[in-house]
Amino acid sequence: MNARQLLLKSLLAMAATGLVAGFNPASAQQPFPSRPITLIVPAAAGGPTDAVGRMIGDSMSTTLGQQVIVENIGGAGGTIGMARVAKSAADGYTVAVWHIAQSTAPSLYDNLRYNVIDDFDSIGRIADVPMTLVSKSDLAVKDAPALIAWMKEKQGAATYAHAGIGSASHLCALLLMSATGTKMTAVSYRGTGPAMNDLIGKQFDMMCDQTTGTTAQIKAGTIKGYAVTTPKRLKILPDLPTLDEAGIKGFEVAAWHAMWAPKGLPADVAAKLNAALLTALKDQKVIDRLAALGIEPVSADKATPEALKSHLTIEVEKWGKVIKAAGAKGE
Ligand code: ASP
Repeated sequence: MNARQLLLKSLLAMAATGLVAGFNPASAQQPFPSRPITLIVPAAAGGPTDAVGRMIGDSMSTTLGQQVIVENIGGAGGTIGMARVAKSAADGYTVAVWHIAQSTAPSLYDNLRYNVIDDFDSIGRIADVPMTLVSKSDLAVKDAPALIAWMKEKQGAATYAHAGIGSASHLCALLLMSATGTKMTAVSYRGTGPAMNDLIGKQFDMMCDQTTGTTAQIKAGTIKGYAVTTPKRLKILPDLPTLDEAGIKGFEVAAWHAMWAPKGLPADVAAKLNAALLTALKDQKVIDRLAALGIEPVSADKATPEALKSHLTIEVEKWGKVIKAAGAKGE
């Protein structure tokens, strides 16, 4: 055996015992997934996207037989986390659960380092999540029409929180302010998880956030709920009127969530991820946990990669017009 053959033989022996990372010829053939998957949530822990991401991740982990580890990368309306996803290896071991902000980012951020459509593979849409208008528990305002009157009177002296420019809480507040002719002062967070803690602590006046984060707090009385952003009232919060009923005709926002991966997944990996997502959306445990938060998973036809891609394309255009009209910009 010459020196080269000897080196190859010992390297192969080391690879077989796992001593040479990336030199295990067997790993190339290993079926996906053969190691844990990182699920990036581009918002702080404890918020609505984090909650949905963890529920879906848990179920997919059971289906795929591998751990799904959530990593929270909040900031700049989710664009920091999504930039990380766009630049990750397209091998299925990095995915993201994010929301409607994927469609608003191109109109808001001039220096976005990725293309929201071309730099991602769509795995599937998860749910359309209702939002609620809420305030700190001691705001002396009794109902939604009174809250709107209060906003008009207070203007910049009223404070509201959002999870960064382009986030669902920001969009909802932007629409609300433009519909009521008000201009409140914003307080920015890396996600509405930490914002909710501060709302409970009465650090600012109000917020518009997904039912995922607000339902339990409204019920516990740690914050006040005024209205929902859906066209119909919600079963889980039946006392809250729609904003339409409260006087803002036609007001509607749903913070839809979806799963993406970096562009260029091998077809079999993409198919496995989508199948595991579909299984999660039919998983009774997931359905029950989501229902307790006012959320219903989308139907299977809306959860396909193709349906998500066309939904995103439509949303990018729709929000582009709204954002241009509102003159909003990212930081
Ligand atoms: N609910 C946040 C938003 O307003 C994001 C989050 O923390 O999940 O977009």
